[in-house]
Amino acid sequence: MIIPVRCFSCGKVIASDYRKFVAKIGESKTADGKVDQKIVEKTLDELGIKRYCCRRMILSQADLIDEIIPFS
Ligand SMILES: [Zn+2]
Repeated sequence: MIIPVRCFSCGKVIASDYRKFVAKIGESKTADGKVDQKIVEKTLDELGIKRYCCRRMILSQADLIDEIIPFS
């Protein structure tokens, strides 16, 4: 749905970094829509997301809000 504002485990604010992450990853997509793992790792490091609890919050996020809004 919507990215949580804070990491569930440590409380670090991650919502603002998620938009930057999506923008940077969007630039790095190949023709088949995939992104190299090294680029994802480098992008997370550049954004200062070091802990794996915060990384899982961003990597496991599925943006479904635009698909759900028509049914509400
Ligand atoms: Zn965390």
